[in-house]
Amino acid sequence: MIIYLNGRFVPEEEASVSVFDHGFLYGDGVFEGIKAYDGRVFALDEHVDRFFESATSLQIVLPLSRDEMKEAILETLRRNKLKNAYIRPVASRGPGALGLDPRNCSRATIVIIVAADTQHPETDHGSSTGPKGIKVITSALRRNRPDTLSPKIKSTNYLNNILAKLQANAAGVQDAILLNTEGFVCELTGNNLFVVKNRRLLTPPLWHGVLDGVTRRTVLKIAAEVGIETAEEPLTLHDLYTSAECFCTATRIEIVPIVAVDGRQIGSGEAGPMTRQLGERFLEYTRHHGTPINNE
Ligand code: PMP
Repeated sequence: MIIYLNGRFVPEEEASVSVFDHGFLYGDGVFEGIKAYDGRVFALDEHVDRFFESATSLQIVLPLSRDEMKEAILETLRRNKLKNAYIRPVASRGPGALGLDPRNCSRATIVIIVAADTQHPETDHGSSTGPKGIKVITSALRRNRPDTLSPKIKSTNYLNNILAKLQANAAGVQDAILLNTEGFVCELTGNNLFVVKNRRLLTPPLWHGVLDGVTRRTVLKIAAEVGIETAEEPLTLHDLYTSAECFCTATRIEIVPIVAVDGRQIGSGEAGPMTRQLGERFLEYTRHHGTPINNE
């Protein structure tokens, strides 16, 4: 693989970062997860905007413009001859003396990693039974409060999420739901959460402490387009346990049904009709929207 590293395209074996990089020493950095479908990068502007917003929040000065960042992403895909790919831009505070003061670092490190993307078994909306669902637990931990480390920052400091993932692993399920300190449902370790109740599609409001997911935004938009009533509403575990359908969303996995929460079956225990409808529509949407990798 060819990696973009600080303005250069280098082979994977040569793509190394200093042990003095504050991204490594302190988790001081930001990242994105983007996907390309059939030669088009989906929601490139939205992802690059969020990347810059995360960096601004942490006062990490990126040494390139938004347009240069987009071009660097497209060029990395071209050099690797990828049309279907998962794309991981990362920016860290950069190398500097020991001590967490950001003033120790003079220049941010920028990396773009790409990988060939293959269909995830959980998201096979083409299969006759719909995509396979996942089982999750509620984590005993709480999501970072927005007044400590805002979940809106897509930072390279994912320990809150990783601790919850360890609990999911120990419980033998695929993921964990994090509540906020008021006890309202936020999101999973790397996905946003939706429930269907009384034919309405509900998701926690951003101010409850969730990432402003690009897939979340797209799902709210495409649902409204097909006449589904949507709302961003405070949700409790009661709403999850009594929902007709439940699913999670993220760039990498798209839309995945949640079929059990805390050992309780949700709905029919399989992908529900609205989840399947939205999953198919989402894939269709990604085929027709996006920035071409090659100028046709
Ligand atoms: N929440 C968290 C904590 C995430 O890390 C992610 C992305 N992996 C999401 C939600 C989903 O965001 P998106 O749809 O933009 O990928």
